[in-house]
Amino acid sequence: MQCPHCGNDKHRVIDTRNRGEAIRRRRQCLHCNQRFTTHEHVTPGLLVSKRDGHREPFDRQKLLASIRVSAAKRPISKQRIKSIVNYVEDKIQGMGRSEITSEMIGSLVLDQLAGIDQVAYIRFASVYRDFNDLSEVRSEVDQLMGRNNLEADERLQAFEKPPTG
Ligand SMILES: [Zn+2]
Repeated sequence: MQCPHCGNDKHRVIDTRNRGEAIRRRRQCLHCNQRFTTHEHVTPGLLVSKRDGHREPFDRQKLLASIRVSAAKRPISKQRIKSIVNYVEDKIQGMGRSEITSEMIGSLVLDQLAGIDQVAYIRFASVYRDFNDLSEVRSEVDQLMGRNNLEADERLQAFEKPPTG
């Protein structure tokens, strides 16, 4: 997508609103700084297939609601939750698919929650992955801890090697 003012294709999203079937985004060009609006029909017809084979249309509001439930009483702002859903929609759009599994949506959300809040992460994982028993919850927690350790290692490396340039 190109800036209508200068043709540059680097821009950032400054506001996102859901308008029924279209997603309206205000963007700012990183080259000329002019603002423009895009209307993306990301999700009409996008189907989400559930584990039981049942399919239903992708529903942004429903996804927002389920993340809100997981984030209840946690220090996560409404804006942060919206930005998680925006991220998920951007990813889905990038895949260019007409159907996506609920597990894929779940992992996209979890990728984001992992770096934000561990309690919300576990709550969301327990709903989305439909845990059968506590050992599954346990392995989910172990995975999360492993992920955080990795990030800690990366942070250490960042200290050891000062950035160049
Ligand atoms: Zn521009």
